[in-house]
Amino acid sequence: MPTHRVRTRPPRTPLDAPPIVHDRDTLGAYLEDAAHYPGGHADAVAFPKTEGEVAALLRGCPRVLPIGAQSSVTGGATPMGEVVLSTARMNGVLAIIGDRVRVQPGVAISSLQETLAGTGRYYPPFPTYTGAFAGGVVATNASGAGTFKYGSTRGWVEALTVVLAQGDVLDLARGEVRAHPDGYFEIEYAGGGGSEDPPYDGAAHDGRVVRVPVPTYRMPDVAKRSAGYFAEPEMDLIDLFIGSEGTLGVITEITLRVLPRIPAVALALVCVPSEAKAVWLVAALRRAAQQTWRDRDPRGLDLAAIENMDGRCLAMLREDGVDRKHDVTFPDGTAMALLMQVELASETTSERAYEEIGNALSPGAPDTPLVRLCRLLDAHGALDATELALPGDAKRRQQFLDVREAVPTAVNQRVGEAKRLTGQEIEKTAADMVVPFERFDEMLEIYHEGYRRRGLDHAIWGHISDGNVHPNVIPRTIDDVKKGKDAILEFGREVAKRHGCPLAEHGVGRSPIKQALLKQLYGDHGVSQMRAVKRALDPDGKLAPGVLFTE
Ligand SMILES: Cc1cc2nc3c(=O)[nH]c(=O)nc-3n(C[C@H](O)[C@H](O)[C@H](O)COP(=O)(O)OP(=O)(O)OC[C@H]3O[C@@H](n4cnc5c(N)ncnc54)[C@H](O)[C@@H]3O)c2cc1C
Repeated sequence: MPTHRVRTRPPRTPLDAPPIVHDRDTLGAYLEDAAHYPGGHADAVAFPKTEGEVAALLRGCPRVLPIGAQSSVTGGATPMGEVVLSTARMNGVLAIIGDRVRVQPGVAISSLQETLAGTGRYYPPFPTYTGAFAGGVVATNASGAGTFKYGSTRGWVEALTVVLAQGDVLDLARGEVRAHPDGYFEIEYAGGGGSEDPPYDGAAHDGRVVRVPVPTYRMPDVAKRSAGYFAEPEMDLIDLFIGSEGTLGVITEITLRVLPRIPAVALALVCVPSEAKAVWLVAALRRAAQQTWRDRDPRGLDLAAIENMDGRCLAMLREDGVDRKHDVTFPDGTAMALLMQVELASETTSERAYEEIGNALSPGAPDTPLVRLCRLLDAHGALDATELALPGDAKRRQQFLDVREAVPTAVNQRVGEAKRLTGQEIEKTAADMVVPFERFDEMLEIYHEGYRRRGLDHAIWGHISDGNVHPNVIPRTIDDVKKGKDAILEFGREVAKRHGCPLAEHGVGRSPIKQALLKQLYGDHGVSQMRAVKRALDPDGKLAPGVLFTE
């Protein structure tokens, strides 16, 4: 068989109807995701446990929306009349062998991490919200703080099982199916005489071959790009499904690569009095880490992530008492706080680390990663405004992480409050953009200036080590929301000019502004190429209709 062609198989378990709930109270919990996208509605939610039940549901329903933990911030997991397919009961960790883990899609990343930790393993590229399910994370090609060192989800997915729209199943292992040099894949639907038990009589099983075209747009060359379908010459078919946001198939099994060790991590919270100085410091830290990886230098500074919170974020944390609650102080005049994840040798003890820090600036100090960190911070005048949570200090570490996580919560609360006070359809108005780090300082200024020019209160935070931030409006009126959307479209154009991606890690979903950014990025032609992929794999538009682009 040519390597661009793959054959489907029938489901391995009986095509039984899954449990379906119509009761309003139960349904109520599934009508919106973390984007609080308005108008969510559905008449039924199904809880399949097997691929056969998933296939039966797909064959029996005209419109289906697969969901994970519904932590989508794009409305992608908000039903608009489809039957909701919850993966919550497909939540097993099936096997851990070597540096691979095979899981069902409904496993939460937090419980996956816990199971892996019990065996001394670790899954690095997880999103900040660890309640997200493995299926959702793959379907959105999620990234996280650790993307700086470890990349996005895509690079860690080794195999997938996907149930296609008509109930046929594809098993995909990385490296096995590559696009034809002329730009297409072929899906051969298994004939009716398939020998699987039980007998399978799927309507699509007539041995026909469907051609799936590979889009020709060029994806931006940045670490994060959850912007519609992945496309590259001679790409791997598995990559088409990663990041496809539920529109091409239901992911029912995932094999992820994992690290065979758990890194010892110190967190450093650094308060910097100007944004320009903070960006300068981040640039130096990035260079040091990249040098360490290049040289495989055990004494080098090894950073997995640098997160940032601007002055407005810190003001909200103070207003909400988050700093006091977690016993964290942001000195007056802090323009940007940075939270770094520093990876250390697993044998590093707290006593040893304290000793190294205490002597870091003395001429005879040993050359270690922590000493190098302290010296670099000192050279940038930032050492005195730094606090470290060392590997053994789980409490302090959690406090730092809680403070960082409180930022989106603080913004969401203010959006909710404005909605309540004005009674208007105020919504979260947020961008998720990435540029090559060399262009980040320019872009940061453009975000601020674009919001300021429109008189918008705003906060910016995110994953600065990737050049990826979330510029959010803190809206007071519906007019602020409209102006904020206008600003986001402007940012999207500026990001594209700088070879970045205006849809970095959250995906596109149902959000009209994100769908507009997708069109802006790839043009009408690019979006119609995505539609052609969708038509080939899901001709009836059954799966997640309205997600990525309008029906
Ligand atoms: C506080 C907070 C912090 C966040 N931080 C990050 C971050 O750091 N990085 C990041 O990338 N994202 C982040 N997110 C967004 C979100 O967590 C991710 O997009 C996550 O990957 C979604 O997973 P989920 O299980 O909640 O999927 P859902 O929200 O349920 O679904 C998301 C999309 O995936 C599809 N889908 C879900 N399961 C399947 C399946 N089995 N088969 C096919 N399609 C499926 C759905 O149809 C939908 O289009 C954050 C969200 C919140 C609320």
